[in-house]
Amino acid sequence: MLPVVAIVGRPNVGKSTFFNRLIGERQAIVHDQTGVTRDRHYGESYWNNRDFTLIDTGGYLPERGNVIVDGIREQIEIAILEADVIIFLVDVVQGITDLDQAVASILRKQNKPVLVVANKADNTERSWQASEFYKFGYDDVFALSSITGTGTGELLDHLVTILPLEVKDADEEGIPKIAIIGRPNVGKSSLVNALLNDERSIVTDIAGTTRDSINSRLSFQGNTYILVDTAGLRRKSKVAENIEFYSAVRTAKSIRECNVAVLLIDAVQGFEAQDLRILRDAERFNKGVIVALNKWDLVEKETNTVKDYEKKIRDKMPNMAYIPIITISAVSRQRIFKVIEMVDVVISERHKKISTSELNKFMERMISERPLPGAGDKQRKIKYVTQVKANPPVFMFFMNNPESLPAHYRRFIENRFREEFKFIGVPITLIFREK
Ligand code: GDP
Ligand code: GDP
Repeated sequence: MLPVVAIVGRPNVGKSTFFNRLIGERQAIVHDQTGVTRDRHYGESYWNNRDFTLIDTGGYLPERGNVIVDGIREQIEIAILEADVIIFLVDVVQGITDLDQAVASILRKQNKPVLVVANKADNTERSWQASEFYKFGYDDVFALSSITGTGTGELLDHLVTILPLEVKDADEEGIPKIAIIGRPNVGKSSLVNALLNDERSIVTDIAGTTRDSINSRLSFQGNTYILVDTAGLRRKSKVAENIEFYSAVRTAKSIRECNVAVLLIDAVQGFEAQDLRILRDAERFNKGVIVALNKWDLVEKETNTVKDYEKKIRDKMPNMAYIPIITISAVSRQRIFKVIEMVDVVISERHKKISTSELNKFMERMISERPLPGAGDKQRKIKYVTQVKANPPVFMFFMNNPESLPAHYRRFIENRFREEFKFIGVPITLIFREK
């Protein structure tokens, strides 16, 4: 597990801008008003060969006046629980405000290392003003500009020296880790409880793993599984926006920790943009993925319901036909163990190895169906394919001019590959190399 760095601070100091600079993306939306919902608040960054995870707080702040302090307090508390190091972002132009003081007093109540970062130091004069922030009593104050990038190097040089070397995961090796994820209220706790309280399963809490997370161990039909972060499901909040924030942070973390992610969808509410983001995140980290439509007991049953419903959802999941979809009801316990059976399928798919001869026979057939497009006056040729690893599966195609292989042909290969070898619920990586 990567060390975690949390960015905290009052609205408008530039947390989101700073976050984007560090993760090197321009995805999150930066606006002048507060209360703008951002796209991402969890990302990976690295400096001097050290990787770390960054959490951006403040993405979901309530608009209404006095709730803002509560909202910030709670997000900071969530971030503190998750983080190894805290970056306390302030604004040199504004100087110290009451809200900064409020943030500082929350931070004083905890023991994790805090770096004070004075943002918007776009020029030398402004960086001199940063000394004001020594008043908070921390040893380190860094002045930088998230917009120009000046000063970020110095901060990062220091940051990586105080990151913990390795955040150990106390879980046993070799036991599949399942993450039950999804938006608030889709029924995650209900499903976990239904699985854990069933007489068919034997349960042990594995307490004291990383930070405040509690993983539960589940035995079913002679196999053992770990349900990751069952404690993280329980947090409730007065501030609705923080339920979203907390849920997003825990979801991102669980995805990184698991082998198979089960995304629950509320069958009545349907599939939303946030769900697609979660699936893409799981895909990006090459995790096994299953979609479970929960609350199926509430869906009016007619003939074809399942098929029609599944099609509606699949239309919103482009290029994810490999992800299995099942229907369940956590409350009526309908098919809840189908989830575990499907996890077994996905895990064995993830370990599957295809022999080089089988792969190459398939490739010949594929190319005879649709010849490789030429590369200028040269004929493009794939020499051979081989599976370089399993769990997760990676395939290497050796060919000439790989960089100019048209995207449509790549897609064609991927689609034919799936038809032939399935790899249900498993993202696969195809690499095209010069031979
Ligand atoms: P957040 O609410 O703390 O996440 O703040 P944002 O990232 O949304 O930034 C608030 C405003 O400050 C935006 O208008 C940003 O463009 C601006 N801003 C952020 N960083 C800098 C900086 O380094 N210099 C200047 N001049 N403006 C900045
Ligand atoms: P979480 O926020 O994802 O953990 O969701 P909860 O497990 O707390 O469930 C949210 C609400 O949906 C609760 O009122 C549950 O009783 C209800 N719920 C969960 N699963 C089902 C289900 O399969 N059918 C029905 N009818 N309600 C469900």
